[in-house]
Amino acid sequence: MTTMPIEYFDAPDVKKLADEIADSLDLFHVVQQFVFCVRSRGSASRRTIARIHGFGRIWQETLNLPPSYVIEVISERYDRLTVEDREKTIIHELLHIPKGFSGGFRPHKGYIDHEIVESLHRTFKKQSASRKQVFNEC
Ligand SMILES: [Zn+2]
Repeated sequence: MTTMPIEYFDAPDVKKLADEIADSLDLFHVVQQFVFCVRSRGSASRRTIARIHGFGRIWQETLNLPPSYVIEVISERYDRLTVEDREKTIIHELLHIPKGFSGGFRPHKGYIDHEIVESLHRTFKKQSASRKQVFNEC
């Protein structure tokens, strides 16, 4: 049996959402310029919806490049989610980025759980609703 390699695609929709979330939730430590988003197809993992990859210190120092992150959404699952669940998924991934934007990760324990994500998602929805109002008045 042959396994097909994973394919990666640009994900401007995911990038736009991640930037909107980082803005709305005042995630000032997230250097948006160095958060990249890709959509993958053909991953063997059955349950993963999205994951975040960090460009760690050894790479930064060896290649002389800044810390950065890639949020990967698994097309087979992410693309079937509702808008709300997509937003929550990206909030979850952004929460893995530590305050120092080091290229490393924050763990789930103490930083990410269902309630934290739900509460931030409510804030995000409120913020985007009020932003829409501002635009409508213009
Ligand atoms: Zn996680």
